[in-house]
Amino acid sequence: IRNIAVLTSGGDAPGMNACIRAVIRTGIYHGRNMFGVMQGYQGLIDNNIQAMDSRSVSNILHMGGTILKTARCLAFKEEAGMEIAYKNLKDKEIDALIVIGGDGTFTGAKRFGEKYGINVIGVPGTIDNDLYGSDFTLGYDTAVNTIIEAIDKIRDTADSHDRLFFIEVMGRDSGCLALRTAIASGAEAVLLPEKETSLKDLITKLRSGADTKKSSSIVIVSEGNKYGGAYDIAKSVKRKFTHYDTKVTILGHLQRGGSPSGFDRILGSRLGYAAVNEIIKGETMQMVGLRGNDIRLTSLEEALHAHNYKLEDDLLEMTHVLSI
Ligand code: ADP
Repeated sequence: IRNIAVLTSGGDAPGMNACIRAVIRTGIYHGRNMFGVMQGYQGLIDNNIQAMDSRSVSNILHMGGTILKTARCLAFKEEAGMEIAYKNLKDKEIDALIVIGGDGTFTGAKRFGEKYGINVIGVPGTIDNDLYGSDFTLGYDTAVNTIIEAIDKIRDTADSHDRLFFIEVMGRDSGCLALRTAIASGAEAVLLPEKETSLKDLITKLRSGADTKKSSSIVIVSEGNKYGGAYDIAKSVKRKFTHYDTKVTILGHLQRGGSPSGFDRILGSRLGYAAVNEIIKGETMQMVGLRGNDIRLTSLEEALHAHNYKLEDDLLEMTHVLSI
């Protein structure tokens, strides 16, 4: 392995820059030629591949987003697109690729590595924390903190006006962000994709809070839950429960941004460092992930297909108890 490229793909996540920095500098430390691919797989197809040195990644450790940009690239799903991507890498004699992204990114990397024999290592980068083989994905911790900060502000105004707020958070089909932020912000209830909570139970819970003189209530709605978005749920609840003035906030893309937390800077650095060390050793088709306090390898196959996110029932039960 002489020449190594790195790209970020899919949804951006805080900590990706810390990881890019670690990848470039670890590679250079080991005497490898390092390349950054712009805009994910699109940059492979467009030949937007730049040589990087240690100074190319100066002063980015603390920045949100990704300096390499990211994109959703449909052309890479086609054989013809992959073929062009391979030719562009081959022209530069790049024989190893590190991809930072989520499950879509890994699916593409796996197909690409299998077909063309390019060594690939994946780094789990998504705020959703929905990949098997890493206790935490890059960006998740920062997103949790960003969401908590926003909810704290909403709580101030909710409390002053005796209001009920429905706050919609991201996570796609994983309720991990919603459940953790519900605990950390003292939400009265949380609706998760993995769990059927009937609206009747939700109203009973809210009513009991009102009866015991709660001055405000906050319900976290995970975007993938079965009852629809926060507006739909608020409308249904409002028809039967009128104690509070009801408001809705969809946090949206602010959840993706911001300077990475200390945890994500360290995780990004560790994963990037490990990704290069493993790829130099000849590892391929693997994801580097955090398990306990160790960085471990999980095959891309397993990371993708064992990824049934298991909701912790004990944590859900705890949120009910702590919000009485
Ligand atoms: P994420 O990596 O965050 O899950 P996406 O699902 O958008 O984000 O995937 C990122 C990119 O990975 C896609 O835009 C596409 O270029 C590539 N990709 C996804 N699925 C495949 C696939 N089956 N084959 C090849 N490339 C894929």
